[in-house]
Amino acid sequence: MKIAVCPGSFDPVTYGHLDIITRACDIFDRVYVAVLTNPAKEALFTPDERVEMLSKATKHLDIVTCEHFDGLVVDYAKLRGAIAIVRGLRAVTDFEVELKMASMNHHLDKDVETVFMMTSNEYSFISSSAVKEVASLGGDVTAWVPSCVAEALAKKYSHARKAGIS
Ligand code: ADP
Repeated sequence: MKIAVCPGSFDPVTYGHLDIITRACDIFDRVYVAVLTNPAKEALFTPDERVEMLSKATKHLDIVTCEHFDGLVVDYAKLRGAIAIVRGLRAVTDFEVELKMASMNHHLDKDVETVFMMTSNEYSFISSSAVKEVASLGGDVTAWVPSCVAEALAKKYSHARKAGIS
């Protein structure tokens, strides 16, 4: 049984993330998607909201489980019995950050391998932050995120606008 974990902020999940998760399912027998708290990023959605959107967006993939985890990715991988951490690469800018992270994770646990997947061309420019920026200005994001996410974004930002937050 080959198990992988796909960790990330997923704030919120995009078609770019889903592409990586779906392709991981072709390689591994079981895939755990972990919503991790990234102290460097201020999140729009709570971890529970992010897990709920991920679960809805992956419900057709029966080998995928989505959950929240607080802690080190290598500890999560160990908890789930994973042999690999799957990460997506969009651009050279991702590479430097990912190389550092993979090296640190390798140092922390030599039994877990980081596997990189190149983004599919059509998703290379999608990021959660760009999606949030467009949605916050009232733009249409349905080409980049599942409908449940587009709805959740519209709701968050309409509340923010009503509360007078710009
Ligand atoms: P993190 O804060 O850990 O970088 P993200 O939610 O931003 O979390 O990303 C999770 C993973 O998904 C990362 O490996 C990231 O490179 C990858 N990813 C994000 N967007 C895309 C995309 N459009 N195509 C491919 N991979 C992506």
